[in-house]
This record gives sequence, C-alpha cells and structure tokens, in this order.
Amino acid sequence: MPPTLNPVFSNLPISIFQHMTGLALRYDAINLGQGFPDQDGPAGLRAVAARALIDGPNQYPPSKGLAELRQAVAAHARKFYGLEFDPEDEVVITSGGTEALGACILATAVPGDEFVLIEPTYDSYRPIVEATGAVIKTVTLGPPDWRLTQEALRAAIGPKTRAVLINSPHNPAGRAFGREELETLAKVVLETDAVVICDEVYEHLVFDGRPHIPLSTLPDMRERCLRIGSAGKIFSLTGWKVGWVAGPRKLLSVVTKAHQFITFTTPPALQLGVAHGLTNEMDFPLDLTKRLQKNRDILTAGLTKLGFEVQPCEGTYFLTAGIAKLTNEKDFAFCERLIREAGVALIPLSAFFKTGTPDTFVRFAFCKQQSLIEQSLARLEKYLGAP
Ligand code: PMP
Ligand code: GLN
Repeated sequence: MPPTLNPVFSNLPISIFQHMTGLALRYDAINLGQGFPDQDGPAGLRAVAARALIDGPNQYPPSKGLAELRQAVAAHARKFYGLEFDPEDEVVITSGGTEALGACILATAVPGDEFVLIEPTYDSYRPIVEATGAVIKTVTLGPPDWRLTQEALRAAIGPKTRAVLINSPHNPAGRAFGREELETLAKVVLETDAVVICDEVYEHLVFDGRPHIPLSTLPDMRERCLRIGSAGKIFSLTGWKVGWVAGPRKLLSVVTKAHQFITFTTPPALQLGVAHGLTNEMDFPLDLTKRLQKNRDILTAGLTKLGFEVQPCEGTYFLTAGIAKLTNEKDFAFCERLIREAGVALIPLSAFFKTGTPDTFVRFAFCKQQSLIEQSLARLEKYLGAP
C-alpha cells in the first residue's frame, strides 16, 4: 500500500505561478505572470545586509525577530497610520508575508469552526486553512467593481467565525478597499468574536493619491486585527522573504508561538537590512508607486486598444482584464496559447477562485521596467492584431 499523505496537499497541483513561470522560461516569453519586480530595491539597504552577513553574527536571532527590526516596524506603523504597537510583544518578524499568513492562520483556525476567505483569494490561503480542518466560508467578489457588500459579509460571518482573512490592496483584483467598505466589515465583525487577519503586503502600492487604510485604524478594530507586512513588496526584494505581523499582545502571543515552530526565526543580516530600509529608504516605495502607476496607465491604454476589457486598478502589482471579446477560450487555455505563440506570460484569474469561475479574465503583473511593458504590448499587438 502506498503511504497516504495529507489530501489537501496530495491533491494540489504546483502553484499557478510556478506553472506559468516554468512555461515562460521554456518558451522565452516575457513574464507578466508571477508578480516580481525586474529591478532590485535600494542598494543602501542591500549594503547594510551584505555587511552584516560578512561581519556576523550569523547565528539564531531571537525567535520574535531582532529588536532593531521590531522597533522599525512599530515606528513605520506609527509614522504612516498613527498605529501604536509595542515592539517588545506586539510585533513578530517572519520569513515573508507567506509565513506570516501561515502563522496567523494556524494561530486562529480551529477544526470544525468557521474561517472566512474573500474570493478571489491569493493561492497560499486556502490550503493552509483546509489543512487545519476549519470550515471555510467564502465571500465572493466580482468584476468590475469587486466590492465588499454588507449582504455578502453577513452571509459568511457569524457566531461560529473564528477568523476572517482580508487582503487590501487586493491581489489579483487591484482593489484598495475604501473606508465605507472597511467600516461595513468592521461592523459585521464586531458583532462576533472573530479576529481579522489583514494581508497588507501591498500597503504602499496604492495609486492616484488614494490612501491605504489599515482595518486596525478603525474604531475598536486594533484589538481584533493581525496586520501583515512584507519587505519583499515594500523594497522590491521578493526573494528575501522578510515579513512581519503586528497586533495586540493577546493575539500576537499566539501567532508568535505558531511562528516559533514554523521557521523559528529569519536570517539576521536580512532583518538588519530591512530595519535600515524602513528607517531610511521609504522614498523607494513612494517612487516605485509612481513608476507602477505609469505602467498601469500604459498597459491599460494598450490593452484596451487590443480589445481586452481592462478592469479598474487602484493598487498592487496587478491589472485584470476580460478576454471575452478576443476569444471563446477559457482563461487558462488563452494564457497557455499566449505564452507559446505571442511570447507573453499571464495568469488566468480562475486560479484565484475555488470553483474556477469566472474564467474569462487574466491578470497582468506590471511591476516591471516601462520598456518591458511596452515590449509586451508590441508582442501582443503583433500577435492579436488590431481589433
Ligand atoms: N499576500 C499576497 C496577497 C501576495 O501577493 C504575496 C506575494 N507573494 C504574499 C502575501 C506573500 O508575500 P511574501 O513574498 O513576503 O511571502
Ligand atoms: N505573489 C506573487 C503573485 O501573486 C507570487 C509569489 C509566489 O509565486 N509565491 O504573482
């Protein structure tokens, strides 16, 4: 008899990002699929980390993270949002936003109790929640406005809800949820005992002067929220995997215990680099946001001309577009054909939905140099022709 492994992971394919990046490499396609920048973040920040790597020590830092970085994370939250976290026991450093999510889910999900996800969902959420044995309830958002409504939230959140996981700015919908929607979410949550895990890894990538509003800043919500950040996204260093969770000590102490048994800690030299970045290099994400907004606009104009139905994008690395006017194919087949024949890799949006529908939308990652965005549009125009 072959060994029986956990069905949640046994039955999963490799992630859509690995699949599309693998094909992009095979067909030498421009990769607008997996979301990673094509330029590394601040040299000064990397120099601090490089020096720390050579000088050492390179032994286990404290499990909750180096004091320098915990203090920098707390100061960053105060400076940008007026949020107060005690760096001693209200901040934990993790190996990226992904580990932060894992630790928050393990700390909050309870077998048989309800856990609310908002669909479309980033790919790492659902398998971890499923593996805990929690019962998933889904709030589904739809194009073009991807709005959170009171009706949908009330249908999913109730007395058995242990946690709600919200991502804002949202991958892949490109929404930065507005105050009114967040107030509605807060109102519904405050009628229950649920905790909200707030995936805010794209917090600085919000366009058109729109604010990023952490749910923790709403009345009475600080005590209910676990706020997740990622240096990978703030400083275009996605390979570093340095992230954090900030929240009230009552909740954070449990997350910290989950974290100690996932990775225990995160490389000390990278932590020192990120502490330097949060303190001295915050012009970088502000400038990145301006460049990305320009890319978004160039891509929107070019794709619209080609017949894509481009959806509004308020933040993140990502733009979504309908393909129904271009093809009868489903999104997955369309993406595979474009990689092979047009030399451009995208992500089918159905990958972010449990049911796989809607299946006539694709996601473009525009966290690239402008010239690459223009080159991608030229390839698409050559292949798809004028409408
Ligand atoms: N959440 C979302 C919505 C993301 O898009 C990503 C990107 N990988 C992550 C979390 C994970 O962040 P990190 O790379 O820091 O693990
Ligand atoms: N966050 C990236 C995206 O959404 C993917 C990161 C990964 O491949 N794990 O494209």
